[in-house]
Amino acid sequence: MPVPPDVPPTPPQRMAECVAQELREELVQIRAQLDQICPTASKRLWQTLQVYSKPFEFRILEGIDREAAFIADEDNRRLEFNILPIVGVYRRIVKSTTDRQLRRDLGRAAIEELVMHELYHVGCNLLRHSDVRVISRAASPLAIGAIDLSADTVATQWCAAVDCYREQGQNWTRLLYHWHMLSRLMIMLQFWVPQVGSPATKPQKRLRFFGLVLMAARLLDAIETKPFLEPELPLDSPLLPLIDFESGTLSITILPDWIFWLPPVGVNMWILTDLLAGLDTRPAAESINAARTLLWGLGKLPEKKQGIRKPGVNPER
Ligand SMILES: [Zn+2]
Repeated sequence: MPVPPDVPPTPPQRMAECVAQELREELVQIRAQLDQICPTASKRLWQTLQVYSKPFEFRILEGIDREAAFIADEDNRRLEFNILPIVGVYRRIVKSTTDRQLRRDLGRAAIEELVMHELYHVGCNLLRHSDVRVISRAASPLAIGAIDLSADTVATQWCAAVDCYREQGQNWTRLLYHWHMLSRLMIMLQFWVPQVGSPATKPQKRLRFFGLVLMAARLLDAIETKPFLEPELPLDSPLLPLIDFESGTLSITILPDWIFWLPPVGVNMWILTDLLAGLDTRPAAESINAARTLLWGLGKLPEKKQGIRKPGVNPER
């Protein structure tokens, strides 16, 4: 198969295949922990790995599949991933640092995040790019954003668990898990978000990536608060933002329990607009800090599975 001339010879196929194979083996090692972190998604993950039992392949997908992230070859029990997005991300990584070890580590992390994101979709039976088109026609941008936000969240949860395992074996603390979850979100925001893009014309991508920034801000805030205490609403929950620009309202739905939070005050529109406009270009740490400022301005996210406004309290909006 001819390779387009703009594709660099490194790192791709071989590296991606090795990384994916190692990841697959490590996941099995921490099956019990993954089952605890996200039981339903994990159950589907094991089914997926059983059905697609052949080593994953990475190549340039062509023809009607050229825009797909992967192909599920059910007959041959194999998943084939599109290498081109990985090449794009790897280029960004190479540009960001001259440190070879760091390049390798980030490259590996980015491949793992892609594989886990897509494995989540496979587990939901979202097997073909045509399925995505059908769903996109039927669903609102919000629903599409929520589907991918779930995939990103589960991918970062699984990857963070693998990181903990590499560092501390089978037993690790919630603090370490959350620290790795934050690191994984940062890699996603720094390298994958610019690759995928979140222009104003794609509200589903904006919601999804803004949700990830809010999650990272919430994690960062909790990790930096001493002593570290996890609230009743888990810190690895996906946050799905809803923005009404007209009234300056940012409300947040905390998945997977669908806890809806309407802050008592409006959002700082200047910071919000600036944050959204810079999602694809600004360093992840800056976006996360801006999101943290936004959250502080709104008041604290509800920490318990309640949040009923007291009678008589009706703050000015
Ligand atoms: Zn997806």
